Amino acid sequence: MLKRLRLMGSSLFRLVLLVCAALAVCGLAGPEWGVGLLVVGLFAEILMHLNYIARLAQWLENPRLENAPSARSILWSEIFYRLMKNRKALDKNTERLAQREDRYRRILAAIPEGIILTKKDWAINWCNGNAAKMFGIGGEEDFGRHLFAFVHDPNLLSWFKAGVFDAPYLWEPDASGRMLRVSVIAVDKKSILVLARDTTEQERLDAMRRDFVANVSHELRTPLTVLRGFLDMAVDGAEQGGDKAVLQTQHITLMRAQARRMESLLSDLLILSRLETGSSTKPKETFSLSEMLAAVTGEISLMAKGTHTVTCRTAPILISAYADEVRSAVANLLTNAVRYTPAGGRVDASCSITPDGTVAVVVRDNGIGIAPEHIPRLTERFYRVDKSRSRDTGGTGLGLAIVKHVVLHHNARLTIESEVGKGSVFSIIFPSSSHVTATDEAA
Ligand code: ADP
Repeated sequence: MLKRLRLMGSSLFRLVLLVCAALAVCGLAGPEWGVGLLVVGLFAEILMHLNYIARLAQWLENPRLENAPSARSILWSEIFYRLMKNRKALDKNTERLAQREDRYRRILAAIPEGIILTKKDWAINWCNGNAAKMFGIGGEEDFGRHLFAFVHDPNLLSWFKAGVFDAPYLWEPDASGRMLRVSVIAVDKKSILVLARDTTEQERLDAMRRDFVANVSHELRTPLTVLRGFLDMAVDGAEQGGDKAVLQTQHITLMRAQARRMESLLSDLLILSRLETGSSTKPKETFSLSEMLAAVTGEISLMAKGTHTVTCRTAPILISAYADEVRSAVANLLTNAVRYTPAGGRVDASCSITPDGTVAVVVRDNGIGIAPEHIPRLTERFYRVDKSRSRDTGGTGLGLAIVKHVVLHHNARLTIESEVGKGSVFSIIFPSSSHVTATDEAA
């Protein structure tokens, strides 16, 4: 109340002055002069207020801070001040909202999924760049158009039209093998959100996983069938009262071979899975690569039982690496070299520092060799050039996949050169940073 009186103060003061002046003029010059003065005074007051109202109306038409009206009247200057204050706060909020909206748009644009916001009738409100690419939407000029105008795949179109969006739609937009997972979410009564996620890589991984499980099952089933067959024979023989052991040495030998095959398959699977999950716990260590290579070559030579000439040529080299992994990779290369080289052949292992400082481990054989079209696929799990030869020689189909992972784990490279009928050269090239020199060691 007090504040209101204070604001009205100047106007009231002017009115009181006017009334007093009118009364004085009444006494001095007669009532008609007094009434005249009162009317003129009131008219001037109304004119002043009209002037301020007009200025306010003019300003409200273009309410910018720089052309804000000013007033000498306390009441009007207070009105202008408050309007200005609200205007400033509004401007600040608008700017903040615009910044926020801009940020959200940039975030949505950066999301790898395609995002389209439509009205209830599927008219496009907004979409990000990825959605524009996926659906061929031309950008802002297409906002407002019907989404279905951009859906050329009849199956996807009928999915949209059916309006049942419990599960996403797997869409293959072209013949390139690309897969998009399209889902529709009703945001509220007025808006619909269409999301399209590129799942090509995920589908590829799923297919790989499915293949892998199928391959493992197949690999394990064969030896198990053999084992079960012989065990059935043994049980039948025992039931028929055959006192002589039905399990002849030949059968037991075969069963042992199949059991070993399963064992090596499971052991390779375990190594591979450890490499893939990175759960090999031992840290990197510095060790003599030349000594390791010589030791593994010695073991392989013993295993070959004199059927092959296995040699090792090395200069002393120290490296910093995951020793168990390197040993496993080298052993796989050497085992393969012996297995894919007919009896009487040669297998030569060597390690050296190349002129550019990298460390090369080379396993060379003069065996059956590999046709060029197979070389890029050799490190795939279970990929074999000749399935029966691999199995007959105890191969699991995982050896080179293990080598590939070891190589990746060391930032190294695997190179394969081969010629059918002449032999193969497998090399692992470790980066120069893995070479430990005498000075490194002293430090
Ligand atoms: P496997 O257990 O079958 O040997 P790997 O992954 O070790 O599996 O090798 C994949 C395939 O690569 C083998 O089946 C074989 O066909 C080919 N291969 C590997 N090393 C050699 C080699 N030194 N000479 C010829 N072929 C080889």
